[in-house]
Amino acid sequence: MDRIAEHPDGSLEIVDYKSGRQTVTEEDVASDLAMGCYQLLVRHKHPDRRVFATIHALRTGDEASAELDDASLAELRADLQFIGTEILNRDYPNVAPIPKRLCSGCDFLPLCRKHPDFDAGLLEDA
Ligand code: SF4
Repeated sequence: MDRIAEHPDGSLEIVDYKSGRQTVTEEDVASDLAMGCYQLLVRHKHPDRRVFATIHALRTGDEASAELDDASLAELRADLQFIGTEILNRDYPNVAPIPKRLCSGCDFLPLCRKHPDFDAGLLEDA
């Protein structure tokens, strides 16, 4: 995040400036994973405060805000904990690469082709 603004009513506004984008909508902010994570972190530190997020499109001055409610924050927290547990506990050396459409543009394709179970012929059909 670029900035946190503290408003007179005690609410905290997470502000992110985007130099590359022209427009932004409330839906963009509400569905932005990073802005969701920032809200989760700030709410954790300040559970008694209203927390919301704003994205500014610097080139046009367009801006939009959104606020995740308690249920959405709890769902995001649960999703992050699930993914984090997966990352920490997965037995990566024994994960077999599975050919898929995006493999053709992947930098790791030469490595995956070395795996005995990686059938590069499936890339044509993936
Ligand atoms: S080539 Fe890339 S995308 Fe495909 S399985 Fe390997 S790492 Fe994943």
